[in-house]
Amino acid sequence: MAIVVLRARAFRRPARSWDNAGTERTPSIAMPLLHDAIVAAWQQFQYACVIYCIVLVIEALIPAERNQPLRNIAFNIGYAFVFITLGNILSPLFDPITRPIGAALKVGFPIAFSDGIFGQFLQILAFYFIFDFFYYWLHRAQHRFDWLWAQHKLHHSDVSLNVTTAHRHHWLEVPLLGFAVWLPMGILFEQKPVTLGWLWAIFLLWGYFTHSNLRLPLGPLTPIINGPQLHRIHHSRQERHWDKNFATSFPIFDVLFGTYCAPRKGEFPPTGLASGEDLNGLWRANVAPFAHWVGALRGKRKSIAGYGNGMDAP
Ligand SMILES: [Zn+2]
Ligand SMILES: [Zn+2]
Repeated sequence: MAIVVLRARAFRRPARSWDNAGTERTPSIAMPLLHDAIVAAWQQFQYACVIYCIVLVIEALIPAERNQPLRNIAFNIGYAFVFITLGNILSPLFDPITRPIGAALKVGFPIAFSDGIFGQFLQILAFYFIFDFFYYWLHRAQHRFDWLWAQHKLHHSDVSLNVTTAHRHHWLEVPLLGFAVWLPMGILFEQKPVTLGWLWAIFLLWGYFTHSNLRLPLGPLTPIINGPQLHRIHHSRQERHWDKNFATSFPIFDVLFGTYCAPRKGEFPPTGLASGEDLNGLWRANVAPFAHWVGALRGKRKSIAGYGNGMDAP
């Protein structure tokens, strides 16, 4: 699923010197960038907490899974702050790399609807559809390649799937999303900043929705719009569900590319890693990919050992 962090608004304020007043040292832009990233992260974390509070109450009324341990939810909320903060710090660091690449390879295919409300709606819908296409393939690659799964498995290790799982992604996924989704989209298409803002907002909100612990089957809409039941199948520990339902919002991509798995009536399977590995610890969650890669380099793991959750099966 879905990585949900807004890009740092790191360049909105002119750089200022953080050196001691009265000195003639070259003004540093690092500290203002860091400051802005942390301020933006704190704002986003507060928004996330408001949504958590609202959705957790609704989850308590119609839960897909009852009695989820509070400590699991508390861990996700704490980790969300780490993820959002590091995501905001990392994003602008990669701009000097992605901007020149994007400019050099620019195709800029225009997709432009009329300026009316309906035209703008179609514009955002078209770009979100394209976004989901790219995300589908990134997500599929994360389940296919051991070195990418090492990052992504933190998200799948949650045994208590709920709205707070939405931000439970390793922060290395932030630059990965930039290179694998935003960069090719920026190269191929002409996009207005307002469209980009809407894409982030919808991506964010849809991520909260699909991870929510709600007994909310979407019926005939299930293959059309991704919802909590379909995404729960993606997080399932049961082998027949592994590596299914990669699209973040439009399951049509899973239908087209052969990875769609419709939930059975009333099916809300248990979630987590097949191996049972527990990553609910700040240290474990943050270092897990690095430990995995070091193990692979030392030959303790095969470079490609399987497929998605199967790579961690006992
Ligand atoms: Zn997910
Ligand atoms: Zn996944």
